[in-house]
Amino acid sequence: MTRTERLLAELIALPSVNPAFLPPRHPHAGEKRVADFLAAIAARAGLDIEFQRVLPNRSNFIARLAPRYRTRQTILLAPHLDTVGADGTRFIPQRKNGRLYGRGACDTKGSVAAMLSAICQLADLPSRPRETEIVFAGLIDEEQAQAGSRALVRDRFKADLAIVGEPTRLQVVTAHKGSLWLELETNGKAAHGAMPQFGRNAVHEMARIVDVLETDYAARLRQRKHPVLGTPTVNVGTIAGGVQPNIVPDRCKITIDRRTIPGETEASVKREIKKFLRAKNLQARMVDKKLAPALPLETDPRLPLVQRFLKSAGQTRPVGVHFFCDAAVLSAGGIPSVVFGPGDVAQAHTVDEWISLSELERGKDQLLKFLNSLP
Ligand SMILES: [Zn+2]
Repeated sequence: MTRTERLLAELIALPSVNPAFLPPRHPHAGEKRVADFLAAIAARAGLDIEFQRVLPNRSNFIARLAPRYRTRQTILLAPHLDTVGADGTRFIPQRKNGRLYGRGACDTKGSVAAMLSAICQLADLPSRPRETEIVFAGLIDEEQAQAGSRALVRDRFKADLAIVGEPTRLQVVTAHKGSLWLELETNGKAAHGAMPQFGRNAVHEMARIVDVLETDYAARLRQRKHPVLGTPTVNVGTIAGGVQPNIVPDRCKITIDRRTIPGETEASVKREIKKFLRAKNLQARMVDKKLAPALPLETDPRLPLVQRFLKSAGQTRPVGVHFFCDAAVLSAGGIPSVVFGPGDVAQAHTVDEWISLSELERGKDQLLKFLNSLP
């Protein structure tokens, strides 16, 4: 068993479920156990450690490997420490056919293990960078509201490149879509169900809206293409309206998931939908949810450090993924960010989450090779 594999098995055995997915004070909740465990390992490897308090009992864990001489650039390794929920047995790591099973195996404790192992091994190498500082940041709350990466940016953390750990099958990812959740409400006029002519049916109005969003609007989005990410999409995910059969409903609500491509903003999408409905003579109110929007990511693949990382990974072209992650937050905060890690997102959040152990090891080796090549 390699050091990275052992570390991953230990991490799976320490539940760090995002508290948003559990009842209050659940024993599996929170990232603290994992952060403390990693801190002990990092301290033994001689790294400088620090906790950045973000929420009560929830801190980002930060470990730094200072260069031998002066810091001229900083590379940030940033996986998240939280996972989605699971039943108790998923916290017992199981090794089978070259795979390790357990909650967080690929999303994203695999990246945590690969990245921390790489930085700890680097600390021991006489050839380690003379002028590049390497920082590991285990972030909280990626699965819910990205409070960890948002706090890092808020406190003006700066780096020349962030490698955000997520399962990309060791592909260097420079772009992903954003996601906007919108709520629309139609308002009608209630009346007795026996005399619907005296009311105005909010459900009927919404039915028309759902229809045009899923047909005409979706078709319009399909004409917009991003070279790596493809087209933006729209999905009407929920609908609710009316009280009982014999009342003309005066209210109906839908929620929409709108996946955005770089260049589309929350404001521009809202404007576009309002205008689209107006042109169809349909009326709905856009409810302001005040959720932090999940922005799209687009990092210039021509940046020298991105080029260097691509080359070191043996990849000629960057790729895009369909999932949102901390990279978008860091990138919006001024840190050029790519996504990279062992494991396949197809296994993330599933009951049988697993990671290929050879890929895990390769991920660690690739990171170590890249970091050790820096000045
Ligand atoms: Zn993740």
